[in-house]
Amino acid sequence: MPRPSSVKDYIRTIVDFPHEGIMFRDVTTLFADPRGFRMAIDQMLHPYAGQPIDKVVGLEARGFILGGAIAHQLTVGFVPIRKKGKLPGTTISEEYKLEYGEAIVEIHDDAIQPGERILVVDDLLATGGTAEAGIKLIERLGGEIVGCAFIVDLPELGGRKRLEEMDMDVHVLCE
Ligand code: IMP
Repeated sequence: MPRPSSVKDYIRTIVDFPHEGIMFRDVTTLFADPRGFRMAIDQMLHPYAGQPIDKVVGLEARGFILGGAIAHQLTVGFVPIRKKGKLPGTTISEEYKLEYGEAIVEIHDDAIQPGERILVVDDLLATGGTAEAGIKLIERLGGEIVGCAFIVDLPELGGRKRLEEMDMDVHVLCE
């Protein structure tokens, strides 16, 4: 097999996961490769070079892996947004719609101070529902979102448009 030359080349597709008819874009193969992982972190950060960023917020769960590495690279703190019931301290929450049913995400209410400049990260943007709920939590705490960075965008699901309509700077590495 030729050596992968782009981030996309390291991502594998699993057919019929988690349900029949879904093509799951699996970034664990990208994370497992030292060259691929560094490429992804560097490219996610590229547009934000030189911009002041106070904290990185990662969306559960693969956003934690990316967000930890990006926060370390920037020498800033990392804040998790988690599914309901996982964070131990006092939280605020946002509900959002899934294909079937609803989900709730939470953030610690003291994790972001008003005016802090935040970079939001996750592995994949689909409908944008998860990211939109995360953005609302950050903004309710007074955070200013510098940008939202993802490895993959699935354009047919409209997430990018949805976030851009919220005036977000959206940065994706591949579609
Ligand atoms: P959205 O809320 O519809 O934009 O879905 C995005 C969320 O679902 C992210 O947190 C992703 O990690 C997860 N997700 C949805 N589809 C995939 C996929 O194909 N691969 C990896 N993660 C996915």
